[in-house]
Amino acid sequence: SSNPVTTTAQPHHRPVTRVPVQIGQRRKRIVVTGGGGFVGSHLVDKLIARGDDVIVIDNFFTGRKDNLVHHFGNPRFELIRHDVVDPILLEVDQIYHLACPASPVHYKYNPIKTIKTNVMGTLNMLGLAKRIGARFLLTSTSEVYGDPLQHPQKETYWGNVNPIGVRSCYDEGKRTAETLAMDYHRGAGVEVRIARIFNTYGPRMGLDDGRVVSNFVAQAIRKQPLTVYGDGKQTRSFQYVSDLVDGLYALMEGEHVGPFNLGNPGEFTMLELAEVVKETIDSSATIEFKPNTADDPHKRKPDISRAKELLNWEPKITLREGLPRMVSDFRNRILNEDEGKGL
Ligand code: NAD
Ligand code: UDP
Ligand code: UDP
Repeated sequence: SSNPVTTTAQPHHRPVTRVPVQIGQRRKRIVVTGGGGFVGSHLVDKLIARGDDVIVIDNFFTGRKDNLVHHFGNPRFELIRHDVVDPILLEVDQIYHLACPASPVHYKYNPIKTIKTNVMGTLNMLGLAKRIGARFLLTSTSEVYGDPLQHPQKETYWGNVNPIGVRSCYDEGKRTAETLAMDYHRGAGVEVRIARIFNTYGPRMGLDDGRVVSNFVAQAIRKQPLTVYGDGKQTRSFQYVSDLVDGLYALMEGEHVGPFNLGNPGEFTMLELAEVVKETIDSSATIEFKPNTADDPHKRKPDISRAKELLNWEPKITLREGLPRMVSDFRNRILNEDEGKGL
């Protein structure tokens, strides 16, 4: 009958929300490559909390088992030590492809390995997605815009990238990974999603991974001067990791291929960042200027209108709110390190 009162009064017409598991809606099996790293481990936490089965693939080049140890023993969690440069056979519904060193210090350490990871690693994961019909999400980067001539950067901007420089293994690598994703999408019907991630920070960043936020926070805690490269007037936009993880999830579950900028539009010079770190950790911290690295982008700030409109996503946590949230994690790890050295 069309009378809502009679319908709800009948036990077999109970509201859907009271049914614990819907038939046909089995939980998803999800691969997270690079799940032992900073962003990947936070993503794994979210997926496990949501009730999915998660397989992490990681070669532990920059990742750490410590980031995942709280899931060991959970039957819905599986860890495979594997290098994505080599093929792998699995059966899953979704692939979040994060495997790739992200800090400039790490990706320049072995540039040939970095570009192999970006090209062969992404090719293998797309081949896997094609074979099993899985949806594939690529974590690309704001570095595809290079040293941008457009500000802020929109997804329609094609970038200003040096193809033969010391950063090229990473930024050209990620550009090729985007190309591969789009070609598998158009040519083989793979459902792809592309995120262009802007600088992200939070707990579990490598203590000495060389990125600016982790450097400044660790330096302030260790009572060392904050190392500002160049004149410190270059800018970046810093996003807290939980905002990014929410964005990656919204992108994967949504209907749009992208690419989508995922970042916090709040823009800071490195000198301003140093001031916020001083306010947050130690007002007596000093600054030491060091020469800048080659091809360092002068400014970077995402235009996130596309993600706002199509993914209904925007970051919630400002730099001043987010920084304190990583300090206790850094303090604990620095303390353990010192104890390990017998200090
Ligand atoms: P991370 O270095 O902490 O994590 C990367 C993970 O990938 C590590 O666990 C590492 O061991 C693993 N890995 C590297 N090479 C591998 C290989 N060949 N096979 C298997 N595993 C491999 O970096 P992150 O900050 O967590 O970045 C994750 C992803 O997000 C990367 O693809 C990065 O390019 C992208 N991204 C990050 C940022 C950021 O600010 N954090 C910005 C832009 C893009
Ligand atoms: N691949 C993989 N796992 C799979 C399917 C493919 O690792 O389940 C790898 C495969 O070894 C190849 C790449 O993905 O190197 C691309 O696969 P595709 O089938 O698209 O191309 P082809 O094998 O024909 O070159
Ligand atoms: N930087 C700095 N001090 C540091 C590390 C980095 O001033 O100890 C600068 C670096 O030169 C760049 C910016 O901070 O201009 C961001 O560098 P990071 O390596 O964090 O990320 P990028 O955006 O370059 O990939």
